[in-house]
Amino acid sequence: RAKNEGKNGVRIFRPTMGEETTQRVGLERDLRLALAQDELVLHYQGQFDARSQMLVGFEALVRWQHPTQGLLSPGKFIQVAEENELIVPLGEWVLREACRQAALWEANSRDFTMSVNVSALQFEHSGLLNAVQQALASSGLDPQRLVLELTESVVLRNPEVAALQLTRLKDLGIRVALDDFGTGQSSLSLLRTLPIDVLKIDRSFVQDENIAEGSSARMLLNVMITLAHGLNMLVTGEGVETPEQQALLDELGCDNIQGFLLGQPGPPEDICWTPLNHTNRHEH
Ligand code: C2E
Ligand code: MG
Ligand code: MG
Ligand code: MG
Repeated sequence: RAKNEGKNGVRIFRPTMGEETTQRVGLERDLRLALAQDELVLHYQGQFDARSQMLVGFEALVRWQHPTQGLLSPGKFIQVAEENELIVPLGEWVLREACRQAALWEANSRDFTMSVNVSALQFEHSGLLNAVQQALASSGLDPQRLVLELTESVVLRNPEVAALQLTRLKDLGIRVALDDFGTGQSSLSLLRTLPIDVLKIDRSFVQDENIAEGSSARMLLNVMITLAHGLNMLVTGEGVETPEQQALLDELGCDNIQGFLLGQPGPPEDICWTPLNHTNRHEH
């Protein structure tokens, strides 16, 4: 769909797109207002040590408290925001808010990282470096606690620019994770050249139905974990929903895990800090 929209403002519509287009224009207008009126909220999902299941970090996930449509997930509005550059102010807000929350938690002397997703346009925007610096400065958060999550496609859009941008970001003392790893067009040489700290294995690999010994799914997980460690990166398994998936990732040497098994994304007041067992994880 996006491909039909010319950069010069000329849009080519297929007849069936009328209703959807009206919806999108409405969404764009509402999103502008949402930013001005504080309707965005962050939910946080825990990241855990694969073996001890101790909490080691959070991922900030944006939601939109829409006045009439209820709580909207990012799948409903991030792409619209990306298409009209609202993603830049939106992303800056997410950075500020996640750093503010992390600094509050840091004051309790908890040891954890805070991961923030960065979209393609936001990553290539010249203001990103400044935005990160500002978020760190205004919150007082230790830069080492901040992790920016980028997908392969974001990095691959322009590898040279990405390398430069990543180097500048890393100079601030923050860390970088490659999100949804394995779903994009992974280039192994890219992994070697870019300063990436964490590889996040996409949940499609973690959730494969056949993870029996000798299965190709198991071998792929093994290869990805070995690759990451060989390149001095930590590995996080995404979308862990069952104890079997957790046990396998731990057995294969995966460092951290994230998924509904250990914690759903939720508002900051729902965060449960104590080491979890599977029966108390949703209490607060
Ligand atoms: P992501 O960065 O890969 O985030 C993980 C997504 O997987 C989240 O969906 C999370 O709720 C979901 N998830 C976590 N554990 C499990 C599990 O065990 N099973 C399943 N089925 N799903 C699980 P969410 O919150 O809907 O976010 C979707 C995507 O939207 C994110 O994928 C990320 O790409 C994007 N996104 C979220 N927040 C932001 C943001 O602040 N800025 C930008 N640019 N993108 C964001
Ligand atoms: Mg992510
Ligand atoms: Mg992911
Ligand atoms: Mg994902």
